[in-house]
Amino acid sequence: MSASVPVALSPSRANDFVQCPLLFRLRTVDRLPEPPSAAAVRGTLVHAVLESLFDVPSSERSRGAADELVEPSWEALLDSRPEVAVEFEADVRADIVGQARLLVERYFDLEDPTMLHPAAREVTLRANLGGDYPIKGVIDRVDVAGDGAIRLVDYKTGKAPRPQYGASAAFQMRFYALLVRDVKGVVPSMLRLVYLGDGQIRENSPTSGDLDAAQAKVQALWDDIRDAAQSGVFSQRRSRLCDWCSFQPMCPAFGGTLPDSDPQAAARVWLGMPGPAVS
Ligand code: SF4
Repeated sequence: MSASVPVALSPSRANDFVQCPLLFRLRTVDRLPEPPSAAAVRGTLVHAVLESLFDVPSSERSRGAADELVEPSWEALLDSRPEVAVEFEADVRADIVGQARLLVERYFDLEDPTMLHPAAREVTLRANLGGDYPIKGVIDRVDVAGDGAIRLVDYKTGKAPRPQYGASAAFQMRFYALLVRDVKGVVPSMLRLVYLGDGQIRENSPTSGDLDAAQAKVQALWDDIRDAAQSGVFSQRRSRLCDWCSFQPMCPAFGGTLPDSDPQAAARVWLGMPGPAVS
């Protein structure tokens, strides 16, 4: 993020704080490096293919056309992120590409892209809720019907979570809906999650009241983040998700020792100053 852009909270970082404030600190305030994960790289590749698919004339958006987009998208990813070729052996890279092809193939079981005419793809929106709570998000796809109804679509390369674990994805979609309401003055009529991992679609039609509640939650979260940054206390919160946390070796909950935090980075968060602290 450029130094001239105000700090803004994204749904991913908000979910980090909800999961574990210490994770948020290490990832977002201290900005410690993390090794790329094969799943994240695969997700980036699939998203790139599905975005490019809508550059193809609608009548030609076939499974074969999508498959032909995988290789150039992969080459473009390797060009933009050379660390991927360094981090992963050739067999792992081949596996990433092979799995991406299967996920793109499965996409066609869930939607018919020849019938879709997205108004926007990979669109970044920013808003400032209540004047003091900057947020931002990147929406995979925005569909607008003839009557003006807006549908927000997000692709997930994993499987649909069981109900007790679906809160973070639902919150992410409400977060996007908040952005659209703030920027466009319209409540999206549909929020659609497309789970390519197991071929499921989850949809929700939010009301203004739902978004008011989501806004209150985001503002309360921002307040908690600022309080933590001001006090310097980002508590650790163990859960089954710790198994996927790349900071586990340095986490006190697992016998590790934390590095010192940069007080200037934390100050940027609670003062809301321009800087790279929250992205
Ligand atoms: S290992 Fe668990 S408790 Fe420790 S920072 Fe990561 S998510 Fe938090």
